[in-house]
Amino acid sequence: MKILVLNAGSSSLKYQLFNMESGQVLAKGNCERIGAGGIVTYKKTNAEPYFEETDLENHEAALKIVLELLVSKEHGVIDSVNEIDAVGHRVAHGGEQCKQSTIITESIIKYLETLIPINPLHGPPAISGIKACTDLMPYVPQVAVFDTSFYSDMEDSRYIYPIPYEFYERDKIRRYGFHGTSHRYVSRKLAEVMGKPIEDLKIITCHLGNGSSITAVQGGKAIDTSMGFTPQEGIAMGTRSGSIDPTVVTYIMKTKGYTSDEMEDILNKKSGLLGISGISNDLRNICVAAENGNKRAKLAMKILTNGIKKYIGSYIAEMNGLDALVFTAGIGENQYNIRHDVCENMSWLGIELDEEKNKNFQRGIPFEISKKESKVKVYIIPTDEEYMIALDTERFAKKKSKQ
Ligand code: AMP
Repeated sequence: MKILVLNAGSSSLKYQLFNMESGQVLAKGNCERIGAGGIVTYKKTNAEPYFEETDLENHEAALKIVLELLVSKEHGVIDSVNEIDAVGHRVAHGGEQCKQSTIITESIIKYLETLIPINPLHGPPAISGIKACTDLMPYVPQVAVFDTSFYSDMEDSRYIYPIPYEFYERDKIRRYGFHGTSHRYVSRKLAEVMGKPIEDLKIITCHLGNGSSITAVQGGKAIDTSMGFTPQEGIAMGTRSGSIDPTVVTYIMKTKGYTSDEMEDILNKKSGLLGISGISNDLRNICVAAENGNKRAKLAMKILTNGIKKYIGSYIAEMNGLDALVFTAGIGENQYNIRHDVCENMSWLGIELDEEKNKNFQRGIPFEISKKESKVKVYIIPTDEEYMIALDTERFAKKKSKQ
């Protein structure tokens, strides 16, 4: 089976074509600046990348170019678009109704449209991507894989905010959780690597990238997570503040006269590691500055690791124990110093890092970095959201073809 995975952003369309039999990526790339020019990047596996500047009016125009490249004589990896068996879409928000990945129908699209008020940034482009596929590949089954669905089993006590209940009932304001596809993938991969049934494991997965979230996974189900109504909640991120006293927001708005849009811009784009350090949202730059003695860079790193530790501690308390701690995404997979700082002084909780392994870890593969005697196993597991989406899509597409 060949599965095309699409991840549509407001002005971008990332894509990967998988051959599911071999598990291989045949080609992947990104269309950027959709609606404001257009740059297409295309990379066939084991070939030089190809770039093209062209006018991309909308997501449909971008998808059209991707399909042309996939079948082109010079760069192609398939003979015809008909070889694509199904398309999997990354959809950030599935609301309360989409509790698992699903075949896309007219009624699913209508439901996703109702979620736009609570998902204004990611909802419209995802729907555009779906509609582009419906227009260009009308007979190919499409599957939506939601960032939120991994959290659909969370108890209400973990998703209801302590504000008047009608905001939940009337406005659906609750904690949804995000990055679910990544947490789901790495927790399953961990169980596979440990050779244990996931049903028997208590796991904490730390997805630490430009956006970061931490999830407690018990018996294969996410029981709690750090992100909430939006990806803003939780630990300090590249440019997002994470959780802060809500009165700070209203106080700044009142005293500075900021509008809600201006305030959101500060909290989403000017806060977090960038806001604290004043240097960068990229931890690599912050580490260099910290090594050169920059106090605010050091402070940013300490605030980040303090936040991660707090979630780990609270999730161990919630699950009454822990079998494995997982680090993933850009920071989690690459920054040994952050893993070191997070795991430092955690031996009482059974977490003991093997400093040598942590520093000299092998990139790109699941890698254990805890001491032999550590009660809690610590692993780096490279995330692969696209492959998880492809796996779900394959499963649903197979089901559909049997119907
Ligand atoms: P992501 O959003 O998963 O791409 O992660 C972005 C964050 O990961 C940035 O803060 C980077 O500093 C960090 N990061 C990504 N790649 C590396 C790398 N190869 N070495 C160190 N840090 C990295």
